[in-house]
Amino acid sequence: MKKIHKKQKEAGTYSILQNVIFLLREIAGTKPFLFVLIILEVICSIIAPIIGIYMPSLAVELVTDQADITGILLKLGGLGGTFAIIQGFLSMAAEGKYYLYNDMRMHFQQKLLFKSLHCDYVHVESKEGMKLSQRATDGLSCGDQAGTSRMLVAVIELAVSVLSFAIYSSILAELQPIVVIVLIAISLVNLILYRHAQNYEHEQRDSVADLNQKLDYVENTAKNIRYAKDIRLYNMSEWFLEIREKLTTSYKKLQNRIQNRFWGVTCINTLTRFLRDGLAYGYLIYCVINRQISINEFVLYFGAITGFAGFVGSISDSINWLRSANLQMNDMRKYLDLMDGGDAEPEHPAKLSEAERISIEFDHVWFSYEKDAPFVLQDFCLHISEGEKLALVGVNGAGKTTLVKLLCGFYKPDRGEIRIGGVDIRQYRKEELYKLFSAVFQDLYIDPFTVAENVSMALETETDMERVEECLERTGLLETIKRYPDHIHSYMNKSVFDGIVLSGGQQQKLLMARALYKDAPIMILDEPTSALDPIAESETYENFHKLTGERTVIYISHRLASTRFCDRIVFLKDGRNTECGSHEELMKLGREYAEMFEVQSHYYQKGGDFCED
Ligand code: ADP
Repeated sequence: MKKIHKKQKEAGTYSILQNVIFLLREIAGTKPFLFVLIILEVICSIIAPIIGIYMPSLAVELVTDQADITGILLKLGGLGGTFAIIQGFLSMAAEGKYYLYNDMRMHFQQKLLFKSLHCDYVHVESKEGMKLSQRATDGLSCGDQAGTSRMLVAVIELAVSVLSFAIYSSILAELQPIVVIVLIAISLVNLILYRHAQNYEHEQRDSVADLNQKLDYVENTAKNIRYAKDIRLYNMSEWFLEIREKLTTSYKKLQNRIQNRFWGVTCINTLTRFLRDGLAYGYLIYCVINRQISINEFVLYFGAITGFAGFVGSISDSINWLRSANLQMNDMRKYLDLMDGGDAEPEHPAKLSEAERISIEFDHVWFSYEKDAPFVLQDFCLHISEGEKLALVGVNGAGKTTLVKLLCGFYKPDRGEIRIGGVDIRQYRKEELYKLFSAVFQDLYIDPFTVAENVSMALETETDMERVEECLERTGLLETIKRYPDHIHSYMNKSVFDGIVLSGGQQQKLLMARALYKDAPIMILDEPTSALDPIAESETYENFHKLTGERTVIYISHRLASTRFCDRIVFLKDGRNTECGSHEELMKLGREYAEMFEVQSHYYQKGGDFCED
């Protein structure tokens, strides 16, 4: 999508080392104790196996040298005791670290949530943004398989394997350097095969994210109380189940294709490992038979070969793990980096005007949502004076909501400029710009908080209760709310609490009270009355009009009668301002506004009292 800054496309492609450093820095900043556990685990994981292979060799040596029993017991007991203590430390570190891994995962999930709440609106609404968000979430939502946990596991395993590899190589090189070379060569083959399977998995991740997104949609919609009535009345349950069945079938097929590749690689790896160990042990037996090494050396080398092969395998495994964890880390960072390019704040932000009345200007604005899509707004020009009450009307799809999205800074125009108080809105910091608007949109957005909190959008402790009551009174909802035992302290919705449920129209009144409470200099009503009948809509608009005082207000509606009272009406068609004037002027003009008004007024009584036929 073209609205995503070019820099962002390059973001999220960090090397393994860069991501490991990033992760370690985050740990240092949030969970420094995890470092202690990691270091403890690395040290213990190296020492424990060395004692493990040295002990049997020592035992054989002591027995063959006919050492005295006290000496044997002291030496072996001392070594066994050290082994037990190290094992104890190891399990302590292993237990504690998983708890902290989970903490780290939640720390990053919190970052993703913060990102989703603060990122540019374009990322929330665009397909690309949704996909990036889904992939970032997928990479963190799988417990121990989360990218952050896997990366830490792999780093520890790699450190242990590389250091142990060096120690075991020096032991085995004394026997025969070629043994070391053969063991490494066979393990490299395994590494390359595994990498192929992993690349295939990586190539499929867009399809996996796409299917996950669709499955989430089906599951969430099926459980959403807003759709529950339609689902039952229109017998949509079968349809939902069928879609889910199709999606899960595709998902299983895709996962099977990926799994089959890994199984193939696992089979080949098992065979090559069998070959590798066979050759090495065969050689050792040959050396013993030919008396090139003693029995206790045989025991030591036998243990060293077993361990060495394991460590070469774990180096390749941990590199593979690092690579796949790195993909998950990059998915996460790609989403976290989104804001750095497209949402850059102005270097020298403009100060917000303190004035109660503020002007708005659209200056030759062009806009399209997609790169090659037709323009939704075409050379749109409009000046709204301080305190003006303006109506934006037109058929559905004319571009009314798009204008509001641009005005609020959710999207940026392709060409042209939008000015508020004479200042290009790009000069305002986003947070500051948002302070300018009290808007009520078509989508009803009520949280499972108390009524008062839903009006103030703050905790009750930070809410001015008198003002809440005043705003509810002004939108005509206070009486209804007072009927509930907890009044404005009643919880709302059934999603979290057993709260109160308001009708569609009552919810819209609540949202208008929210807009009044915020008391911003620009108010926008973007058809929040669609759930009301035309008379109620008209009354609500006129009542709201009385409440707006000196503020600049934009009313949007496709029911032309609702906005007749406005100072000026702009008729929007295909993203162009085609007619502009008062209701009377536009009616006199006799063009599309007048035509549409005539058609709509057919449904209402003549004379201005809007009653349905
Ligand atoms: P109105 O509010 O007048 O009904 P909108 O501004 O919502 O119209 O839509 C104007 C046009 O932009 C429509 O053709 C609509 O399909 C398109 N549109 C709206 N939102 C998006 C989006 N997020 N992505 C792509 N196209 C969109």
